[in-house]
Amino acid sequence: MDPHEHLLIALVMVLCYIIVAKRELPSIELLAIAFVGSQLPDLIDKPLAIELDVIPTGRVFMHSLPVAIPVWMILLVYTWRTERPHTGVAFVIAYASHLVGDHYRMLADGQVPNDLLWPFRPHSPFPEIPYWAGPHNINVHLVTFFSIAILTITTFYIISDVNDHILNNNWASSGVQLCAPTSTCKVGLNIKYPIGVNKMKNKLYKYLNPEIGFM
Ligand SMILES: [Zn+2]
Repeated sequence: MDPHEHLLIALVMVLCYIIVAKRELPSIELLAIAFVGSQLPDLIDKPLAIELDVIPTGRVFMHSLPVAIPVWMILLVYTWRTERPHTGVAFVIAYASHLVGDHYRMLADGQVPNDLLWPFRPHSPFPEIPYWAGPHNINVHLVTFFSIAILTITTFYIISDVNDHILNNNWASSGVQLCAPTSTCKVGLNIKYPIGVNKMKNKLYKYLNPEIGFM
């Protein structure tokens, strides 16, 4: 299934879910989360398989339930604990729709594809060079570049979100203020962060709260 087909199916499913669950239209943020969820397996597995050759095909690893389910559980617990359960469910719906979309013919026949159970089942044979690779694998390189860009932006937002919902709460509850970027500091629960993490954390915090300066 092509990326735009995965996206279309995920958007329709997330739209239906949010209308039924919340009686409102999904926000732009939720649609962005649905976009990432609908593409994530390919964004990670295609470059790992075709560009770096570290997994056997671009249809295993993040495409496989033994990897996907723990990712879903972590996200559901995180969004539930941060009081945004619909966000987690929307992501899981979008992600799961990708796996179903890749295997819908076999699933419709009542079969469970081996790739869904990898590494506990051998992967299905798949061409080493995909049909869409183009001359000198140019399309593979473009997909890798696009994947890195999307994953970098996604990672930034995940770090920002954790910063907003967990680290800042610790600061607020403990009364401990931000540390100078050059020092190590203790925040709530007596967690000690190394200097590098502190720098990144403080930069993110300053970016997200421009009106608040450093100590
Ligand atoms: Zn896929």
